[in-house]
Amino acid sequence: MVIEKKKEGYAVSEPVEFYEAMKKWVRGEKDFWKCDAGRHHLTINNNGKVMQCALLTDDLGLHFSELDRDYAEKLQRQVDENLARCNDNCLAAAYFCGQHYRKHPTSLFKQGFLTIS
Ligand code: SF4
Repeated sequence: MVIEKKKEGYAVSEPVEFYEAMKKWVRGEKDFWKCDAGRHHLTINNNGKVMQCALLTDDLGLHFSELDRDYAEKLQRQVDENLARCNDNCLAAAYFCGQHYRKHPTSLFKQGFLTIS
């Protein structure tokens, strides 16, 4: 239904692929998307600690003031371990859209989220 409305031109910010993934998620399928929280974006909690995302409440043991250019390598093991547990059980729209539009930058225009004037 949402996919049909989006294709008719209704303003829906999530890509069609998000709703296709949602069908797989509710069916209990696995490996239907690859979250990249912890690699391309981080969340900072009230104590200044770095979190992988806003949904995982445990921090990654690093204060934001300790972030440097190599943070992704330092956190990779923890990030991968978290994703092994959470990725198949989560479909967070903001994180899905982040990884989707990063991989397919032209879909921002193709699917009508942004228009060229
Ligand atoms: S899959 Fe969900 S819970 Fe796991 S890191 Fe991504 S957004 Fe967070």
